[in-house]
Amino acid sequence: MSDAMLEMTGIVRRFEQGGAVLEVLRGADLTVRAGELVALVGPSGAGKSTLLQIAGLLERPTAGVVRVAGADVSDADDATRTAIRRRSIGFVYQFHHLLPEFTAQENIVLPQMIAGVAKRVARQRADDLLRMVGLDARGSHRPARLSGGEQQRVAIARALANAPSLLVADEPTGNLDPHTAEAVFAMLSAIVRQARVGALVATHNMELARRMDRILEMRDGLLVEHAPV
Ligand code: ADP
Ligand code: MG
Repeated sequence: MSDAMLEMTGIVRRFEQGGAVLEVLRGADLTVRAGELVALVGPSGAGKSTLLQIAGLLERPTAGVVRVAGADVSDADDATRTAIRRRSIGFVYQFHHLLPEFTAQENIVLPQMIAGVAKRVARQRADDLLRMVGLDARGSHRPARLSGGEQQRVAIARALANAPSLLVADEPTGNLDPHTAEAVFAMLSAIVRQARVGALVATHNMELARRMDRILEMRDGLLVEHAPV
């Protein structure tokens, strides 16, 4: 599939815990295509975050194949994986993790500079992204001066700073009130579709999950696709 931004096949992840082995993922498969939002649901402890860490190349699976934007990264060394992660993957978490001493704009400039983008270009891109998330008037504010919803919008803009192929989001609206969660989700989904990013979004919010393109449920270490409505 040429427009697959993420393909995971037969993903197994085991943890050793005091002599016992916990098999959290038992052969999970999934594909996320360009411009597609895929919801990842399931109870706490089911393995959603573990799967996202593997999808985002932050962890390696015990077994299985991961392809990001067509490239098989399973046997790649750490330096190669880090380079692919910085270039091709954006992350959003439940808590924004913005750097408190930097402005909103600077928080979006930084990951670009790490990727080697010139400062002037990075600032222009940050301003474009701030406009895209409706925060063009907030670029000079530090995170503490922003509301929770605004902080998450900046975090989304930062995740998109290097024009990733894949967006990995772990409960991105989990810390927001329902009204703000709705607004942030609407913005996220519009950007994902417009920018043709593939997005894998873990959420407890079934109302939001039902508005994504597909729902995958983590069940006994496997992914089960919900029938389309
Ligand atoms: P979810 O995000 O669906 O709530 P997680 O992926 O965080 O689930 O966790 C799945 C299971 O894996 C839990 O039982 C958790 O305790 C276990 N787990 C996650 N990370 C580790 C780790 N680094 N070492 C040992 N166990 C872990
Ligand atoms: Mg989790």
